[in-house]
Amino acid sequence: MLQSPEEHLDEVRTLAHKRDRHQPEYLQAVDEVFDSLLPVLHEHPEYIENRVLERLIEPERQIMFRVPWFDDNNRVHVNRGYRIQFSSSLGPYKGGIRFHPSVNVGIVKFLGFEQIFKNALTMQGIGAGKGGADFDPRGRSNAEVMRFCQSFMTELSRHIGEQTDVPAGDIGVGSREIGYLFGQYRRLANRYESGVLTGKGTGWGGAEVRTQATGYGAVFFAEEMLAKAGYGIHGRTALVSGSGNVAIYAAEKIQHLGGKAITVSDSNGYIVDESGIDIDLLKQVKEVERARLTEYAARKPSARYVEGGSVWDVAGDFAFPCATQNEISEENARTLLKNGVIAVVEGANMPTTPEAFDLFHEAKVLFAPGKAANAGGVATSALEMSQNAARSRWDFDKSESRLHAIMRNVHDKTYEASERYGQPGDYVLGANTASFVMVADAMIAQGVC
Ligand code: NDP
Repeated sequence: MLQSPEEHLDEVRTLAHKRDRHQPEYLQAVDEVFDSLLPVLHEHPEYIENRVLERLIEPERQIMFRVPWFDDNNRVHVNRGYRIQFSSSLGPYKGGIRFHPSVNVGIVKFLGFEQIFKNALTMQGIGAGKGGADFDPRGRSNAEVMRFCQSFMTELSRHIGEQTDVPAGDIGVGSREIGYLFGQYRRLANRYESGVLTGKGTGWGGAEVRTQATGYGAVFFAEEMLAKAGYGIHGRTALVSGSGNVAIYAAEKIQHLGGKAITVSDSNGYIVDESGIDIDLLKQVKEVERARLTEYAARKPSARYVEGGSVWDVAGDFAFPCATQNEISEENARTLLKNGVIAVVEGANMPTTPEAFDLFHEAKVLFAPGKAANAGGVATSALEMSQNAARSRWDFDKSESRLHAIMRNVHDKTYEASERYGQPGDYVLGANTASFVMVADAMIAQGVC
């Protein structure tokens, strides 16, 4: 006899916890998805029969490799590189590469698992993968970063390809790193395979709006979610964390829409600028000079720099966590709620701890989960892949309006699924169920593989 959905979820969850007990972030991501799936399994016993969940929690392939490189003093360093190819039932593996000292197999797996559902929601025919290394590009010269990227790609190049696996950027991997990675791939492959990486420079195969896409996309999603609940961005204040790719362009789009982003942060502290973050100055400091936020404060009299502390102590209408995983703790959530936060929009991947999420959920705060809200980046990467395949190039306006349409669609699909499963406006339930059904149906159609 077939297991009940409750028994089945329990069994597979226990298996994941037993097998990957040293990977807390991965288990957190699995639990978050599993918590939404009961009503789906009740409707689809074939998912239990075909052991879809058990197959889904095991990546199709995990690659771990040595990355040796020379620093500027001719000293040899060795880092650990990863590429986890999670699921290819909807298309080639697709997902970013992260360079950060905290990278380990559990972090890459949580990111790859999230990517399965996010990529499904974009409806762009992309599977899921993620990679990275425990390398810290901060404080390294361009030459050191280049040598590291070349060594990383020397191994990675055997495993990727425009029909196989298409990496992009993430924390610590921006346009400079993608350039060095692409250069080395081209050299090793001896062909110009544009579609093998996304986030390329716009002069050599990159799509317009890819740089802006994750931040802009999160704000487009927020706009839809807020409108549905009777709110707007205009005239409201937003707290943004992080000061990298996602944070900069989320803040920029908030200001375009008449809101005011009043904070940004990094791992050392945060800026409060009640007059609104000066986006040009922020780009100059972070993108051009690669300097720290103290530089921003030194040049902007209205800005206050707070060393340490938490950006979530500041009062604002909306919270846009755009830095890293688990950056909103239970205590942070309590402070945000006390200060009257209306909506939380995850620009980063899994920035809200489960305890903080429970508090937001209980307080009925509007909550946009990262796998839906930050899908604009990978969706625009898919647009870059199509332009590369067709050898075409879209201008900025066309690219932005395609991104906007995709984010509206991601919102609507997510909202509809939340209604269908009886919790209208529960975007976590909506995102998990809508995407899971797409992936599960494809897995069943393609047989046990
Ligand atoms: P960047 O490297 O451009 O910026 C990351 C920012 O977050 C920096 O300000 C960094 O500060 C801060 N940060 C990183 N780690 C920590 C930490 N442990 N504690 C405090 N601050 C930290 O990365 P992105 O903007 O690209 O990525 C941000 C988030 O968005 C990540 O969760 C990523 O997975 C997610 N994301 C990114 C996409 C993209 O297209 N780039 C797509 C979808 C999701 P510092 O400089 O001090 O390290």
